[in-house]
Amino acid sequence: KDPIIKIEHVYKYFGSFLALEDICLDVYEQEKIVIIGPSGSGKSTLLRTINQLETVSSGKIIVDGVEVTNPKVDMTKVRMRVGMVFQNFNLFPHKTVLENLTLAPIKLKKMKKEEAEEIAYSLLEKVGIKDKAHSYPGQLSGGQQQRVAIARALAMNPKIMLFDEPTSALDPEMIGEVLDVMKNLAKDGMTMVVVTHEMGFAKEVADRVVFMDHGKIIEIGTPEHFFKNP
Ligand code: ADP
Ligand code: ADP
Repeated sequence: KDPIIKIEHVYKYFGSFLALEDICLDVYEQEKIVIIGPSGSGKSTLLRTINQLETVSSGKIIVDGVEVTNPKVDMTKVRMRVGMVFQNFNLFPHKTVLENLTLAPIKLKKMKKEEAEEIAYSLLEKVGIKDKAHSYPGQLSGGQQQRVAIARALAMNPKIMLFDEPTSALDPEMIGEVLDVMKNLAKDGMTMVVVTHEMGFAKEVADRVVFMDHGKIIEIGTPEHFFKNP
């Protein structure tokens, strides 16, 4: 079976600074990839090239059969199939939780409001914050906001979910509730690429761990390989 994400010899320069060097990675459907490595090693940049929030300098990325690195490709269609969750939630502050979840399905998928709301409520239930549907993001804790952000990404019914340090901006007591939502998503069979410093999550959930340093993939292996006891 073809990989759902195919990254071929990707290079990324910021000016003369080489942020990604000859990155090759295939991700298969339902696979959970966790990317680890020191700060500044290119993890976030790599993740962002998958849905082209960051362009590549050279190389090729194919997502669900579409070459996203081809500038002629309409990225809105691809982004609908790829959900992304950021460190800082990126919710619309002046929209309610419910509106945050229904906006894109109504606008981009031409979904009826009633249907979008029905889906939104079921997703909010799934992430454990149905009672916050009519709150604004600013009225929620960080952990709750991040769960809204995950539900919002899921509202587009994506095939792939990208997570860029989803717990790094959270107080320690809220990290668990977000990781639990991510673990449930993994159990549901979602294809996931996760940049995180949470090694417990990597150990428990990852099919493969990718270790990056200085813009390069240094090693790819199973969690057992990375976290073996000495
Ligand atoms: P990580 O996610 O591993 O912390 P990043 O992918 O965010 O690393 O960044 C990799 C390197 O690229 C860092 O040195 C960072 O400063 C640099 N970088 C990231 N984005 C930009 C940008 N837009 N312009 C210039 N340099 C950038
Ligand atoms: P992260 O590691 O979570 O990506 P950063 O602080 O490295 O967070 O980057 C935050 C934003 O700033 C990103 O959009 C990144 O592209 C941009 N950025 C990072 N480093 C640089 C840089 N040296 N010059 C310009 N923009 C940068």
